[in-house]
Amino acid sequence: MKFGTRLLHNGHEIDPFTKGLSIPIYQVSTYQQDSVDHFGKYDYARSDNPTREALEETIALLENGTRGFAFASGMAAISSILLLFSPGDHLVVCEDVYGGTYRVLTTLFSRLGITVTFVDATIPENIRAAIRPETKGLFLETPSNPLLKITDLKAAAEIAREQGIITMVDNTFMTPYLQRPLDLGCDIVLHSGTKFLNGHTDVICGLAVVKEKELGSRIRFIQNAFGAILGPQDAWLVLRGLKTLKVRIDESQRTAIAVADWLTRQERVKDVYYPGLQAHPGFDVHNRQSSGPGAVLSFTLDTLDLTRKLLENCKLAAFAVSLGGVESIISYPAKMSHASMPCEERKARGISDTLVRLSLGLEDSGDMIKELDRLING
Ligand SMILES: *Cc1c(COP(=O)(O)O)cnc(C)c1O
Repeated sequence: MKFGTRLLHNGHEIDPFTKGLSIPIYQVSTYQQDSVDHFGKYDYARSDNPTREALEETIALLENGTRGFAFASGMAAISSILLLFSPGDHLVVCEDVYGGTYRVLTTLFSRLGITVTFVDATIPENIRAAIRPETKGLFLETPSNPLLKITDLKAAAEIAREQGIITMVDNTFMTPYLQRPLDLGCDIVLHSGTKFLNGHTDVICGLAVVKEKELGSRIRFIQNAFGAILGPQDAWLVLRGLKTLKVRIDESQRTAIAVADWLTRQERVKDVYYPGLQAHPGFDVHNRQSSGPGAVLSFTLDTLDLTRKLLENCKLAAFAVSLGGVESIISYPAKMSHASMPCEERKARGISDTLVRLSLGLEDSGDMIKELDRLING
C-alpha cells in the first residue's frame, strides 16, 4: 500500500466503538472500573486516551515504528525523550539543531549533568570523533534548521550503533511521507506535529516513534510519569490534518522547487539553501535517503534593508515563527527560531542577519513568485 493510501486506511481511522469514520474526541480524565482486582485498559487519561491513542498508533505506522507517543508540544516530546539520559551522560548533537532544542540542552539538561558536543554532522567522521566513553545519544536533524544541511542518516546511525549509542532524529521538516529514519537504522524519530503533520497552523503538538520494544517501554514510562501529554482535542485535529499530508506536501513542494529555482537567478539573492537544488552539497545524500526536498528553503539577501522590506511587506507569506502550514510563512531565524542562540554562536553557524526562511504553503506558485519579484526586484 502506498503512503497516500495508508494515511486514510491504516486501521486507526475508524472509531472501534461506533464505527464512525472519524475518531471521536474523548474529552475525559478518568474511567469507571468494575473490579478491585483487575482494572480495564483505560484507567486515567494521562496514561491512555482513545483519541490520543489513535494518533499514536497512526504515527507509529507511518514511520514504520512499533510505538508512537503524543506530547503537548515538539519541545515536550524532545525533552521527554532526553529524560532517557542521566547525569554524566554525553550527547553528540548536530550544530544547527532547532533553537529550542539547543536551549533546552544548554540551559536545562546541562544543569542536570548531561553534557553536549555540537558537531557539523554533514561529515559523519565528525560524529565519530566527538564520541567519548560516556556518550549515550546522538541527536540529528536533516535537513537542518535553518540552513537545510544534510546528514547521512544511515552512516550516522551505523557509527552510533557500533558504540551502543541511541540515535534520535528530528524529522519535522520531512515528515514520514518524505523520509523514514527508522528504516535507515535510527532509533527514535521526533516531530513537532505543530508543523506539516497537523499542517493547519492551529495546534501545538509533539510526537515520538520507536521501533525497538524495550526502548518503547522506557519512553512509555517517561510519558506517563513526566506527564507532558497531548490533549484529545489537539490529537483529533492532528489526526484530521494527517489525512491530507501527502496532497499538502506534494503541492507545497512543487511550489518550493519553483521558488528555489527562481531565487537562484536573482541578482539580489546571495545564497539559496534547498536540498532540491543540484548545487546543494547534500543533494546526493538527501536523494538517497528521502523522496523529496520538502517545502522549506532559506536564502540570504544582499542588504539588511532588503531583508527587512521582504519580511515586513510580504502579502502572500505571513511574517511569523513556524512552518509547515497550508499558508506560507516567512521567518527571520536570527530573531525567531534561533534567537535563543548567542549571537557569536549563530554567526559561527552561518545564520546571518540577512538569512530568511520560507515555508511554502498552498498558494499558487505563480502568485508567490510574482510577490517575491515585487519585493526583491521592485
Ligand atoms: C518547531 C520545531 C520544534 C519545536 O516544536 P514545538 O511544537 O514548537 O514545541 C522542534 N524541532 C523543529 C525542527 C521545529 O521546527
